[in-house]
Amino acid sequence: TTARSLDTATLASEVRAGNRAALARAITLIESRRADHQAEARKLVQALLPFTGRALRVGITGSPGVGKSTTIEALGMALVGRGHKVAVLAVDPTSARSGGSILGDKTRMAQLSATDRAFIRPSPAAGTLGGVAAKTREAMLLCEAAGFDVVLVETVGIGQSETAVCDMTDFFLALMLPGAGDELQGIKKGLVELADMIAINKADGDNLKRANLAAAEYRGALHILTPRSAHWQVPVVTYSAIAGLGIEELWQKVVDHRDAMQASGEFAARRREQQVKWMWTMLEDRWQARLRADPAIRAKVRSTEAAVAEGQITPALGADQIAELLT
Ligand code: GDP
Repeated sequence: TTARSLDTATLASEVRAGNRAALARAITLIESRRADHQAEARKLVQALLPFTGRALRVGITGSPGVGKSTTIEALGMALVGRGHKVAVLAVDPTSARSGGSILGDKTRMAQLSATDRAFIRPSPAAGTLGGVAAKTREAMLLCEAAGFDVVLVETVGIGQSETAVCDMTDFFLALMLPGAGDELQGIKKGLVELADMIAINKADGDNLKRANLAAAEYRGALHILTPRSAHWQVPVVTYSAIAGLGIEELWQKVVDHRDAMQASGEFAARRREQQVKWMWTMLEDRWQARLRADPAIRAKVRSTEAAVAEGQITPALGADQIAELLT
């Protein structure tokens, strides 16, 4: 264990020095399911914790085809041009099933992946959304320790993964398409309630008029919702990732939001809440894992479930019996 702690310390200092290969290795360690790797990974993240938290964390969501990778490429390059170091991570809960993540794929962001001021990592392929999200969050902390001061976390437009990414970021950006139906969809899914900004991409060429119409509809819809913060009016903007139009304005909104939230104290409050929520999520995942891991416990859980389903015992008694298995 001494040799191993030494390794962890070395890896930690390499990550802090901004060594990209070390950062990649550290994230691989986090993603490993081996118990000894997980123990090491926990030590590593704890050791680096004092050097985390300094990045602006931005979640980006949108349906496939909305232009997430084109946007991240354009925004990322603009940020790099301003002297930022940009990390791109992803939460794609479907990657476990499809056997490989599309989100965060380097081939989708050719320019950005070629600069050494950016670091792109696809979604981990852990089993559950909780697992994927937890690993992405720890990867984000490592990127911060390595000196990346903007972290972009990409996700697809699926309800639960959006909530998970919203819960790990300071700003949640919802990308939309110009055109019919899409706007109502976003509202129905509750996405608009999570978003700190709605940005309608592809506002170029023939789309321009439809993009402006969609923006007006979203503004109307936002009017009737209670804002998440009294200090932030959710903006609706149009832009074109391909033409590079409106990208600077889009980022300015992110900066304005950070300034407003820091002035009101909500910036730090949101992070504090997120940290505590993450602890509980991880604890719940661990309990779930224990209930699944041991065959004897699994059998007992199944028979308790059956007894509750058949009305032989009360749900309360069933809960007592399962809770006892965990002590
Ligand atoms: P993702 O699936 O959300 O990552 O979307 P992509 O970035 O891969 O883009 C999907 C398609 O939309 C691609 O064919 C892009 O070239 C196109 N696209 C992306 N941004 C724009 C834009 O601003 N204007 C137009 N007209 N097309 C765009």
